[in-house]
Amino acid sequence: MGQVVGIDLGTTNSVVAALEDGQPWVIPDEEGDLLLPSYVGISDTGQLLVGQAALRQYAAAPERTVKSIKRQMGTDHTVTLGDRSYRPQEISAIILRSLKQRAETILETAVTQAVITVPAYFTDAQRQATKEAGEIAGFEVLQILNEPTAAALVFDIRSEETENVLVYDLGGGTFDVSIVEITGDVTEVLASHGNNRLGGDDFDRQLQRHLSDRFLQIHESPVPNDAATQARLLRTAEQAKIALSDNAFTTVREPFLASKGETALHLEVEIAREDFEGLIKPLLKETLDAIDRALSDAEMTADDIDRVILVGGSTRIPLVQHLVENHLPDTPVNSFEPDLCVGLGAALQAGVLAGEAVDSILVDVIPHSLGIAAVMDTPMGPMPGLFSTIIPRNSVIPTSRSEVYSTAVDRQDTVEIEVFQGENAIARENVPLGSFRVEGLPPKPAGALQVEVHFDFDLNGILTVTATEKGKGQQNSLVVNDAETGRLSSHELNQARDAIAALFDTSAASDDEEE
Ligand code: AMP
Repeated sequence: MGQVVGIDLGTTNSVVAALEDGQPWVIPDEEGDLLLPSYVGISDTGQLLVGQAALRQYAAAPERTVKSIKRQMGTDHTVTLGDRSYRPQEISAIILRSLKQRAETILETAVTQAVITVPAYFTDAQRQATKEAGEIAGFEVLQILNEPTAAALVFDIRSEETENVLVYDLGGGTFDVSIVEITGDVTEVLASHGNNRLGGDDFDRQLQRHLSDRFLQIHESPVPNDAATQARLLRTAEQAKIALSDNAFTTVREPFLASKGETALHLEVEIAREDFEGLIKPLLKETLDAIDRALSDAEMTADDIDRVILVGGSTRIPLVQHLVENHLPDTPVNSFEPDLCVGLGAALQAGVLAGEAVDSILVDVIPHSLGIAAVMDTPMGPMPGLFSTIIPRNSVIPTSRSEVYSTAVDRQDTVEIEVFQGENAIARENVPLGSFRVEGLPPKPAGALQVEVHFDFDLNGILTVTATEKGKGQQNSLVVNDAETGRLSSHELNQARDAIAALFDTSAASDDEEE
């Protein structure tokens, strides 16, 4: 019998994963890429192109390239490539076949059986078409599995108690939110809502428009409207968007984007994460409305949800995480490899169906919030020494987050970054992890200088804090090692001992009074 795999057949990207020693892992291509862009094309010499090669050709030859075929599944719509027309199942089968080959090359064995995932809202016709695509590709399709269920499997929520999980999936071209009820091994989709025309591609286009506007402002000349230039701008926009998930600012550089007379015009602008957030906020608002609709369809309120799982590459955007957390304030929001977890879950299910021993994936969370002391606005005005959380507790590790802070006083030339862990609103009531300074800041009025503080918490429990002055790149950092955790807990022990000793002191005092 050949090896079994799990496949996430996505609108934008697809993933194939297998099990090894009970653990799922994503199979890369020969270059090490984990995602296969869901693009199929025919080159000008008639050669079949799949994935990156087809994606690269898309801007130059859209008539010979197909993307987002998933949207057509289950319809009798056909697409023409070269001199033949294809049904959606056939295009999907080409993608699946390419993933099958990838798996066979890396595993060095035949791969014959697969679990393939589909959105929870897919109709029978769409599911049937997906199954057919798998069969055309040469697979025995063990199961067509719902994507939110696959994601939930990765989080190993297999307790005997029923858990209600809300899966928020924002990918490249589609958004959906599902509420699944999990009891033991049984997963049921209670409600599903979404918009199959909303995703990261829309954010790229918003940023592309913004870059065009900035270019026009700077050069008083528009970005040429030809397909190749616009495609370059769109690609740059996507790269900037991804950079802004990890950084509060990014500089976009596209040389020779246009010319005015004899002069070449270059695009070089700095984009703040805040500007980008302003562009996408209205689109994200719609996803929050979908959460409410899914809740009401499942006849539930936010209180009934035990946890939220974030799925899809676009949930790496910090604003997405913030908005979901604020919308469901009392529910833990988890994320683990958001663009791979559906494929990983499919591999787990494939293993279960093939009768293999399957282990759960170890998803580790950080037990305490991490943040810094800062001056924060309160109803009573700005207050110093408050705890500004950067990584909230229960975040799945590894994780990295950053926040931007402004200087608090005029001509402030030093910023002290004091790092704490804990849940108290007063920074000093939490456990100190260390501090460092960024010095030599230029004299500016209060609030005019911005410092980005970046927290990176890795799989080994090592926290790296970096502070960077906006624009200038003035930087300093601190590494808090796991080895120090022992000391941290002894500090906590000391605090607890003091607190209990104080309790005894007061009760001894009242005993004295009674005598
Ligand atoms: P998916 O369909 O889940 O593969 O998601 C693809 C989308 O996620 C694309 O629009 C990507 O640009 C977007 N994406 C991937 N990584 C990031 C990131 N770090 N920050 C923001 N968007 C991302």
